[in-house]
Amino acid sequence: MIHQFSSVSSNGSRALSRRRMIKLGLASATAMALAPALLQAAPGARRRVVVWSEGTANVDEGSKEVYPHDINHAVADGLKPLTGWEIITATLSDPAQGLDADRLNGTDVLIWWGHKRHGDISDDLVNRIDQRVREGGMGFIGLHSTHFAKPFKKLMGTACSWREYVTDGTSVKISIKDPAHPICKGVKDFSLPKIERYGEQFKVPTPDSVPLEGIYTKPNGTTEPCRMGLCWKVGKGRVFYFTPGHETYNDFFLPEVRQILCNAVQWAAPSK
Ligand code: ZN
Repeated sequence: MIHQFSSVSSNGSRALSRRRMIKLGLASATAMALAPALLQAAPGARRRVVVWSEGTANVDEGSKEVYPHDINHAVADGLKPLTGWEIITATLSDPAQGLDADRLNGTDVLIWWGHKRHGDISDDLVNRIDQRVREGGMGFIGLHSTHFAKPFKKLMGTACSWREYVTDGTSVKISIKDPAHPICKGVKDFSLPKIERYGEQFKVPTPDSVPLEGIYTKPNGTTEPCRMGLCWKVGKGRVFYFTPGHETYNDFFLPEVRQILCNAVQWAAPSK
């Protein structure tokens, strides 16, 4: 079940709410306006995943057509098959940047997508996320351009840069490197017709495992390998980084990507 964080301070949520209000009529709209930001957890929900994105993909030309409700909602939709999980969307313009102490302390896995607004994340939030992972065992999943997000860099402790970033029509074949890894469960090799090519080396600590690898094919026909899914243990927590997910491509609607992320949430969750 998805519990949408319906803060009206988010541009995306506000636009969505307006549309819904027109559709639902005044009575429902009034009820919606009075609804608490966070609904009650579903009966039997044992765990919480928060899907956070910065609120730019639903605004910018080229991506708003693909992600009209921002990337967090697309990712959250893909997590619906998970049972026993409360799924929450959050964004930068929400109160406490979407992760106040109560919410973060009750979060088992945090999924993050950021691109342009890394610098706006408060150091306090970065420190709280880092502490939740290292000491509390919260899982952290970083998507694509999140490699430069402050929480991810703090967890890695390295530059987290790639050698290059190219959007030139490169495609990629993603291969299941470790079929026994929980993140690969039910996923077969698949291709993305376009990907923003992030070139190795990726300046992160040596991962504990690399369940997903890829081979880029550039427009001139040459190929280049690249890691697509990397796993680390950081303190008590587990961290997964997924290379695809550029905002102008529909990766987060694809069944293979959704299966990988469902698997990753379960893998990254702390054992209870
Ligand atoms: Zn990108």
